[in-house]
Amino acid sequence: MTILVYETTLRDGMQGEGMFLSVQDKLVVTRVLDDLGVAYIEGGWPGSNPRDEGYFTEARRLKLQNARLAAFGATRRLSSTCDSDPNIQALLRAETPVVTLVGKACRFQVTQALGIEPQENLEIVADSIRYLKTRVDEVIFDAEHFFDGYADNPEYSLSVLAAAAEAGADYLVLCDTKGGAMTDDLQRAVLAVRAAFDRPLGIHTHNDADLAVANSIAAVTAGAVMVQGTVNGYGERCGNANLISVIAGLELKKGQRCLPEGKLSKLTHASRTLDEILNLTPKHNQAYVGSSAFAHKGGIHANAVMKDPRTYEHIEPETVGNHNRILVSDLSGKASVVMKARQFGVELAQDDPAIPVILEQLKRLENQGYQFEAADASFKLLVDGAKGRRPSYFVLHDIDVHVEMSDGTLDVHAFDCVSRARIKLEIGGVVAETKAEGDGPVHAIDKALRNLIDKFYPSLKKVELLDYRVRVLSSAEGTGSVVRVLIRSGDDVESWGTVGVSPNIIEASWRAMVDALEYQLVRDQVEAYV
Ligand SMILES: [Zn+2]
Repeated sequence: MTILVYETTLRDGMQGEGMFLSVQDKLVVTRVLDDLGVAYIEGGWPGSNPRDEGYFTEARRLKLQNARLAAFGATRRLSSTCDSDPNIQALLRAETPVVTLVGKACRFQVTQALGIEPQENLEIVADSIRYLKTRVDEVIFDAEHFFDGYADNPEYSLSVLAAAAEAGADYLVLCDTKGGAMTDDLQRAVLAVRAAFDRPLGIHTHNDADLAVANSIAAVTAGAVMVQGTVNGYGERCGNANLISVIAGLELKKGQRCLPEGKLSKLTHASRTLDEILNLTPKHNQAYVGSSAFAHKGGIHANAVMKDPRTYEHIEPETVGNHNRILVSDLSGKASVVMKARQFGVELAQDDPAIPVILEQLKRLENQGYQFEAADASFKLLVDGAKGRRPSYFVLHDIDVHVEMSDGTLDVHAFDCVSRARIKLEIGGVVAETKAEGDGPVHAIDKALRNLIDKFYPSLKKVELLDYRVRVLSSAEGTGSVVRVLIRSGDDVESWGTVGVSPNIIEASWRAMVDALEYQLVRDQVEAYV
């Protein structure tokens, strides 16, 4: 029995603060979700948002492999017929095989929010479903506020479900719309509904009590076969149920298949890709897929994980497409250094005499603000240095940087800037000096350095700067703050990361830049000219 995963980032997820996707972005999200293997993708609410109509026109052309597209909308208004109701007609214009209709399943909400009689609500639910059922393949009924209604007046909430079932709804989805339900109460309600209806049930939870994932899993345990939610738990207020954790939990802990064979390992990729499209920073401590989900800090843990990962890992990270990491930290012992080095492809024996030196240097550098997660090449150079395998390719004497800015003559918002650098260093037994001009001070230094050393080490001509990032580590000192510069470089073999830290951005850049060049020379065992 496969649990049907119903993904609603494009509709309910978009209610979250700061969420925005263009039609093009939505189509990319649709492809990512289809590739993940969810059963349904809810694309939007065509009746309330004209941009969603544009999405459906485009989305119909996508050849989806796994998912069916669903359009979402509300029951018709009391005063209109389905034929004349703009909302219902917009749903039909979306031309999706599936329509999900939301209707109130709570007496209090019907009389207070809708302001109509309880009996009238039953009629519009039944009439809307009956109308749609003859016009689309599948109609899913979202019973809004079901759990609050059931706690307050169970007879009425069940009568709404009965009206939907009789009218032909294919699934009855029980919604915890305000997200405040406690797990045991919710599970009891699902069991009661299951006993009363033969129609398949779904669950739609929100995370206002931080229980959306637990509640979704509890509902499935009680017999629900469809889970609605969003990747990463996007959604209004505290979000929808995070489908990443629901899927991983059901598949790995409850033996319930949610995705097609072989798709579970795409969870991490799907999670990070959606964050990227939405311009959100992935949560490092997110369950299952976060970069820290299987990160081990401290000697004893790292040591145990190396012997057997099951000691401190609740699942094999690879099953969800993640991997473990050993954090080298103030607490780290020898085992961490060995494990860390292995992840960067460097094998160290437990009794390697370089280990205490590496440990000592890591402690000092991490204290200064260095981090090596994105700077594999700087880490390898540090190991090579500790093992006495890092030649001196040149010796720096001094650098002079000159930046001139004068008030813009072309554009009121821009200064005319000129950056010049002069470098003096010792290479090939002589002291050499050169000057260069660049777009900025770092660029000028880079050009001057290359002028001097490229002729001695011609392979460096292939090294390209791919990415340059600056991060402020402590803002207490204002413009005197310590910064960390991360540089990504590459040649025709691979790409690598290097890092430099200093209160002076030029110095931090210089350190990361020199590591970037020396890494290639050390890797290719180029002989030094000094
Ligand atoms: Zn919702």
